[in-house]
Amino acid sequence: MTTTLITGANKGLGFETARRLVAAGHTVYVGARDAERGRRAAEQLGARFLHLDVTDDASVEAAAKAVEAGGGLDVLINNAGIETRGEGNSVPTAATVTAAQMRNTFETNVFGVVRVTHAFLPLLERSATPVVVNVSSGLASLTHLSDPDHPAHFYPGVAYPASKTTVNMLTVQYAKAFPSMRINAVEPGFTKTDLNGNTGVQTVEEGAEIIVRMAQVGPDGPTGGYFDAKGALPW
Ligand code: NAP
Repeated sequence: MTTTLITGANKGLGFETARRLVAAGHTVYVGARDAERGRRAAEQLGARFLHLDVTDDASVEAAAKAVEAGGGLDVLINNAGIETRGEGNSVPTAATVTAAQMRNTFETNVFGVVRVTHAFLPLLERSATPVVVNVSSGLASLTHLSDPDHPAHFYPGVAYPASKTTVNMLTVQYAKAFPSMRINAVEPGFTKTDLNGNTGVQTVEEGAEIIVRMAQVGPDGPTGGYFDAKGALPW
């Protein structure tokens, strides 16, 4: 039996990933910072609710204790994420971004990943087949954002892509440090969710595809990589 925790699983890509992994036979913890939204989602999914705010040390430590008491963890999916908006709901650009906006974005997207991974590593180390999936973004790719021939080049935001590039670096460094684990970063693709005001072009079913695939990777699968549904991406 595989036990899986998905952070920020009460809606969007996390919810869809939970739905698919429950169907695949995983015991799934739906991590959510809001108890009511989380409980409702877990009930709908036939999953377990786990109260977890990735920005809060005490919440994450309590969540790790609860999962340990529940029998341990095999798969951690760091999915919770935000895109900080500025004036007029626009993304902060190089001309406008403030340190506070950077800090706010990194608190969830980067420090959240570190906080949760740090708390759950001891449990993962006890699993026979530990897996970590870090939900990154195509906007994390320095190669694509610096290439004037790539569409991502024209994305003007600073905080969100910088946070996801950092998630990619974390993925590389954790994967080297824990060779017995499969630890990968994934890019779901531009998906219709609340994160982008539902302007994405993919369905959550399409977006969750690579998350679900990397959550089910076997001991011979890749580690320390960055993938979308079509294959490896340039850093
Ligand atoms: P979403 O529908 O807005 O879902 C984000 C989830 O993260 C929600 O469940 C939200 O909970 C949760 N969350 C936010 N802050 C949290 C915190 N402090 N603690 C715990 N949970 C928290 O967005 P999504 O598109 O599914 O995003 C999922 C992941 O995919 C993110 O990492 C995002 O960066 C990444 N991604 C998305 C796209 C896309 O096009 N949608 C593309 C590339 C990557 P609440 O309901 O409480 O806010």
